[in-house]
Amino acid sequence: IRTYEGKRVIVVGLAKSGLNAARLLKQLGAKVTVSDQQPLEKNSEAQELQAEGGYTILTGEQKPEQLEAGFDLMVKNPGIPYDVPLIKAAVDAHMPILSEIELASEIAEAELIAVTGSNGKTTTTTMITKMLNQERQAGKSAYAGNIGVPASKVAQELTADDTMVMEVSSFMLLGTTSFHPHIAVLTNIFANHLDYHKTRENYVRAKMRITQNQTAEDYFVVNFDSDELVGLSKQSSAQVVPFSRLGKSHAGAYELDGTLYYQDDAIMQADEVKVPGDHNVENALAAIAVAKIEGRSNAAIKHVLTTFSGVRHRTQYVLTSEGRQFYNDSKATDIEATEMALKGFKQPVVLLAGGLDRGYTFERLTPFFKDHVKAIVLFGETKQLLADAAKKAGVKHIEFTENAETGVPTAYALSDPGDVILLSPANASWDQYPNFEVRGDRYIKAVEKLTGKKEEL
Ligand code: ADP
Repeated sequence: IRTYEGKRVIVVGLAKSGLNAARLLKQLGAKVTVSDQQPLEKNSEAQELQAEGGYTILTGEQKPEQLEAGFDLMVKNPGIPYDVPLIKAAVDAHMPILSEIELASEIAEAELIAVTGSNGKTTTTTMITKMLNQERQAGKSAYAGNIGVPASKVAQELTADDTMVMEVSSFMLLGTTSFHPHIAVLTNIFANHLDYHKTRENYVRAKMRITQNQTAEDYFVVNFDSDELVGLSKQSSAQVVPFSRLGKSHAGAYELDGTLYYQDDAIMQADEVKVPGDHNVENALAAIAVAKIEGRSNAAIKHVLTTFSGVRHRTQYVLTSEGRQFYNDSKATDIEATEMALKGFKQPVVLLAGGLDRGYTFERLTPFFKDHVKAIVLFGETKQLLADAAKKAGVKHIEFTENAETGVPTAYALSDPGDVILLSPANASWDQYPNFEVRGDRYIKAVEKLTGKKEEL
């Protein structure tokens, strides 16, 4: 473990995680400089640090000259690419570059469980946390890190009796050297995020860092429905625990003929998993594997999976009224996510969609509209493009509305008992909303107003 006493550290990129990293490093005795491109007058994090005092604060353009003061190491926000000049200069100077999760894992006394993958991180992390807490063991509690609250902040608050379950992106993993979870989970690897990582090989290598420091005392939970991941799992020194929705391995968690098992133990039916879709059965299996490694009972696992209504804004079940089930999938900011959500429903869907125009067309959705969508209510910059795709699919009712909330009564009027009413926009929200969370919150409010019922949590 590194010591930070007297070390000169530059934290690049503030936001919530950088802010917490700066404070933590100062507590650990480091001399902390922060660099953030937002000018001070618009930069609330930098203003907070300035008010606290004891930091050198650099705002505005991030020039390589900022390194001239001399630093022992850099803590970099995972969103900042390695080829921006300031970072490149640090790489050229062989300065160690860490991410905030590395700091979190260094100071964490709690046992660490880390989840990575192209998709399903938040859902799987949340399922695991709930399963561990459903049946607390001798004073132990589990907490989710990196979902809204920076991992290093959660790590500071936990004791050796606790478990910290954290989701980690490949960007975060790039800045790790000593990161060492007791249980690592790899949900899947898709070809997204390639623009940042340049090649698939780099992307895969970044994800595999989750297991790089694991030993035979540790566990690596991996999706065995992917031949690529089966191959990669051989690189791990940990005990590999497979999960497989296609029943390809019976050594860990798997689905067979509609039943979910862990090894020889039947736990529940796949269709009892409350969050919809095959992808959520995969997430459930990954979570089951972790809960069983941690000694939780089948009853505790089943309770969580039959009641957990989804992470907010991610195909989240909202409520049922007059036989209509409302779902909020505002997080679906691209075509793939909407595709995934539609595939998850057997019932007819009245879909609300539309948003920021990024120059895509939506033909790819036509087959999914054809199979699942009975009516569609469109808003935002892309409404005409989506209408074209819906027309091709033969969707009978295509309506335009102002936004996600005004679309709720319109969608209801087109629905029948037994239908699903789903907000899954297939587009970013920025043409009409500050972010997808606000879009989802306003949709839920409109659903509550229309039905006179409350969101079920
Ligand atoms: P992440 O945290 O990795 O972004 P989430 O759990 O927030 O993942 O899910 C985001 C979206 O990704 C979901 O709404 C769904 O469309 C899709 N998704 C979730 N889990 C999976 C999975 N196991 N495989 C494929 N897609 C998934």
